[in-house]
Order: sequence, then C-alpha cells, then structure tokens
Amino acid sequence: MTKPSKQVTPPATESIIIRRAEHGISRKAISPSALKVLYKLNDAGFDAYIVGGGVRDLLVNLQPKDFDIATNATPEQVTKIFRNSRIIGRRFRIVHVRFGREIIEVSTFRAQASQSTKISGNSLARNVKHLDSAHNQSGMILRDNVYGTIEEDALRRDFTVNALYYTVQGFTVHDFCHGMADIHKRTLRIIGDAEQRYREDPVRILRAIRLASKLNFSIEANTEAPIKACASLLESIPPARLFDEFLKLFFNGSGLITFNKLVLYQVISVLFPPLSKLTSFADDRDRVMLEGAFRSTDDRILNAKSVTPAFLLAAILWPAVRRSFQQKISANLPPMPAMHEAGQEIIEMQLTRIAIPKRFSIPMREIWEYQLRLERRFGNKAALLVTKKRFRAAYDFLLLREASGEDLNGLGQWWTSYQAADPQQRQTMQQKLQNSSLSKPHKRRVKSGQTSKKEIH
Ligand code: ATP
Ligand code: MG
Repeated sequence: MTKPSKQVTPPATESIIIRRAEHGISRKAISPSALKVLYKLNDAGFDAYIVGGGVRDLLVNLQPKDFDIATNATPEQVTKIFRNSRIIGRRFRIVHVRFGREIIEVSTFRAQASQSTKISGNSLARNVKHLDSAHNQSGMILRDNVYGTIEEDALRRDFTVNALYYTVQGFTVHDFCHGMADIHKRTLRIIGDAEQRYREDPVRILRAIRLASKLNFSIEANTEAPIKACASLLESIPPARLFDEFLKLFFNGSGLITFNKLVLYQVISVLFPPLSKLTSFADDRDRVMLEGAFRSTDDRILNAKSVTPAFLLAAILWPAVRRSFQQKISANLPPMPAMHEAGQEIIEMQLTRIAIPKRFSIPMREIWEYQLRLERRFGNKAALLVTKKRFRAAYDFLLLREASGEDLNGLGQWWTSYQAADPQQRQTMQQKLQNSSLSKPHKRRVKSGQTSKKEIH
C-alpha cells in the first residue's frame, strides 16, 4: 500500500456557490422551525445558514437529526430576535431557540482559536466584547468563543462535508472547503492537518469513525493515518462528554459498523478500559458477544423498538466481568458475592473514562447478577423470576451469551420453553429438572443461593 502523501486540505480561495438545480435540496425537507429562524435572522439584517449535518444529510438523502444554524449575529443579538431563546454553553456559547419540543441551535460564526489574532481587524470581531479562547499544553482547545467570518467558521469545522452552508437567500449552498466534491466521492476528509485537529479536539476521532459508519463514506487517507496514534488523546476528554459521544456512536442504527471500525482503529479499549485488560479481546466469544449486542441494538432501532444503554453497556463489558468473576470463584468466593464484586470492579474501571449515569449502571449490574439467578429454577423460583421487571433483559442477555458460544447447558432454551408453557407443562419441566439433578450424583448439587462454578465460563 502506498503511504499517503502528507498534505493539508487546501482551503478554497473563495466559496463555490452551488445553485438549487445542482444541489437539489428542497425546502420541504427542512424543519419549518429552522426555516423560520433563517428568515427572521435575514429580516433583521443578518446572514444565516443551515450548516453541518443538516445540509450534509440532505445531500446524501438521509433524514437529518437536527438543523444547526450559523449566523453573523452575536448570541445576544440572536436572543433579542427570538423571545423563545436562551444562551447556553461555555466552551461554545450558542443560542437555543425553542419551538415546542424542537430546539434549533444557533451559533455565531467562529474563527479557529489559534487564529484569534488574525481577526482582530475584522468588523464583526470589533463589535464583540467576548473574545475568548484557550488551549492546554497538548494543544487541546479549552474555550472557543472567538467570533469570525463565515470563511473562518468553515475552516474550524471538522470535515469538509460538514462545512457546507445553505441559505434561503437564493436557496444556494456555499462551499468553502470543497465539501461538495467529497459528498460526490463519498469521502470524509478532515479540514487542515489531521493530527493537529485531533490534538485540538480528540473527539473528532470518534466523529470521523461515527460519520464514516453512518454515511457509509470512506475516510480519506490523511484523515485516517493518525487515528491509531492519536486514539489515547481521548483519555483527556471529560467522562461526561464521552457518555454523550457513546450514545451518538451506538444508538443511530449503525452501531455494528461503528464498533468494527473502533476495533480496527484500536479506539475501543480507550473507550472501554476494562476491555484492554483482556489478554485476548480477539477471543471469538467476546467479539461475537459484542457484535451480537450491536446487531440487535441496530435491529431494534431500525424497527422503532425501545433500546437502553444499560443492556448494551452490560454486553460490552461482559467479557471483562466474566473473567473477573472466574478469578474470584477460583479464589473461593461464593458465586453471588463474586458476581457482585466483579460488577463493581469493572464499573469502577469504566467510570474513569465514560460517566455512566446511575440509572443505567444499576440495571447493568442487575442484568449480570440475574445471570446467576436464571440458573436457579427449583421450587417456585422460576415462576417468580419471570414476573420480575429485569427478567426480560436478563433473558435476552442469556440468549446473547449462548449465541456467542458460552455453553450454558441449554439454559436459554429452557427459559424460552418455560415462558411459552402452560401451568401443567411448567410443572412437568420443573419435575424433569429435579429428576435430572438427582440422577447426577457426581455433579455438585446447587445449594439455594449458589450456583456451580462450571456454569459461567
Ligand atoms: P449529526 O447531528 O448527524 O450527529 P453533525 O455533523 O451535525 O452530525 P453536530 O454535533 O450536530 O454533528 O455538529 C454540527 C456541526 O458542528 C458539524 O457538522 C461540524 O460542522 C461542527 N462540529 C461539531 N463538532 C465539532 C468538532 N468537535 N470540531 C469541529 N467542528 C465540529
Ligand atoms: Mg447535527
């Protein structure tokens, strides 16, 4: 393979203006609220554009998730125009304009923080009191509130296809970084020097992987080249921001493709530190387990079924929990405390990187602990378990484990049959279970409150 030549995306000297007939974006495909914001800003004498995912997705015939607006009005000027608006954010000060349940984000054109001195003569910048940017030692942007021109705003965006600006003044698309050519080539290309841009904001690595997966675009060679080497920079991102990114990565219907790319670029163990402890993440069972979880999440999203981060996180971390559980069992801890401690240990390790809210981490631990409870089916236990709130998730999880190759002596099938059985059949099933356990004297009887060592591999 030839090494990509190190070249930086040349900024277009002037914008390319693409007319309605060439870009094909119809106003019907745009949220009426976003259009209202564009027209009102224009009426007040400001420039305003839809930019980012809203334009990009329409150009590749996807339904945009949201419509973000960029303008030369300052946040204060924007809030004067819209009564239903407020300024939010510190790293980026933006305005949220609310229309019922829909929120339109309006941001003022910004310059790259590193170029702050260059715009001091700019007329907009002169009007703006709030000139504020900061980097830390490794080049990461801490604050980024330096206002600028539309050209500067385009250059500080992450990828060329995200720097296309749609206006209702002439219904044109303004292209400053050859983004339209990349849309046609289905290529994700970073604006500027890739390594520097990842240093400024390592989340761009996740955005590259996520967008390439969602759009089915290839990552251009220079954009791709430094990803592996820069992946560890993500360690410096606040865990709360990484939780938001985690949701965006895996709950958009292309989680499986995204996961495979995260493995390919060695980003996965940066996001999930407990997985890096595994000597062999390449272990087929682990990989199949995770792939199964991502596949079923994607399927559920595509079929408009509910999904929860608790289930997916429980599956992602399961290989690590399972190994820790085994070690504790080998150290003679009884199963339930072993599972409890393993869960605690792995969640603590994970929280150093991604801030999982308690409303998800508590059900995760329950799903793991239920894996032991599902083995105890004697007496009235089975009848009681199926009525529990967590049963369904725990049962689905059990099926996932079996599908990944864990040998659980047909436990999943037993529960499948049990749920479909009438009371008479259920009694027969319990009887059979009792008999088979009595007819195997060589096997350690499972005491109530315990499980055999062998059952979790
Ligand atoms: P989607 O909304 O489909 O997830 P998006 O590209 O619209 O994708 P947003 O997070 O909504 O993502 O961001 C809107 C725009 O802001 C992006 O298209 C990009 O131009 C810019 N942007 C977002 N995050 C960054 C970043 N970390 N660095 C530079 N530009 C960014
Ligand atoms: Mg967006």
